[in-house]
Amino acid sequence: MANSENFDDRGFGEVKPRRVFAQHWLRSEAALSAIINAGELSSQDKILEIGPGTGILTQRLLPLVKSLVAVEIDRNLCKLLVQKYREKKNFILLQGDFLELDLAGILAAYPEFQQPEKVMANIPYNITGPIIEKLLGTIAQPNPQPFTSIVLLIQKEVAERLVAKPSSRAFGALTVRVQYLAECEYVCTVPAKAFYPPPKVDSAVVKLTPRATYPPANNPKKLETIVKLGFSSKRKMLRNNLQSVMERDNLNQLLEKIALNSQVRAEDLSIAQWVELCNHLFD
Ligand code: SAH
Repeated sequence: MANSENFDDRGFGEVKPRRVFAQHWLRSEAALSAIINAGELSSQDKILEIGPGTGILTQRLLPLVKSLVAVEIDRNLCKLLVQKYREKKNFILLQGDFLELDLAGILAAYPEFQQPEKVMANIPYNITGPIIEKLLGTIAQPNPQPFTSIVLLIQKEVAERLVAKPSSRAFGALTVRVQYLAECEYVCTVPAKAFYPPPKVDSAVVKLTPRATYPPANNPKKLETIVKLGFSSKRKMLRNNLQSVMERDNLNQLLEKIALNSQVRAEDLSIAQWVELCNHLFD
């Protein structure tokens, strides 16, 4: 992203950011545009926004889409958002903790608001992992109604883990769990100063596109287990981390069968190889 943008603090005194809810107001036009562009929005889109805050992204989204459901935990911000957007017919605001909320259940009471299909959000960084898990589901229990796309502004370090390639430093259990369920794209870096107050770390926009995995794991629950075990001790070879589920000689043979050196570490396996390993282990 261009580094020449000037950031102005005026207007950000409107609502004092609260640390307990990980509030950092976005104040960068370039970042807002990057998020909107990544969404590839159409006037038929039904959007979910998590943590609208003072509504800086909400305001951009509303004229572009069919409907917008926003979930905000902070009651004071909810009051402000209601004041700002009460006239908007395509907007519904839910006050509560996104992680606890039964979105489908609540929306069933509002027939004019169908289930959102895309997610667009600058989320609270203290719950990035749980939010992604709620949106995508897990390997063993993928979200049965997957979103068509999920555009998020998150910590750069987490973004790098989501899009990591095998054998790179950032490739870990999170990478496998998320890439098993979704295509992950790094859209752009957003500097800390693009927020008020600036967080300690830089951020990045990512786009996750849920899709079926080919080939899928025969036993997703087992895949979840071996991924966790495989990465449990990062410096160890995979065969040592997996000792408790398989005898070493058998595992060596199996790794050779799927064209892998028996000395590989967990981070060297691609998603397809993890699935293959699991399918051989538990066929
Ligand atoms: N999207 C806004 C605010 C980002 S800060 C902007 O870009 O400026 C994160 C927002 O998430 C805050 O408004 C915070 O109150 C809200 N939030 C924090 N925890 C939440 C939770 N569990 N459920 C819903 N919203 C939450």
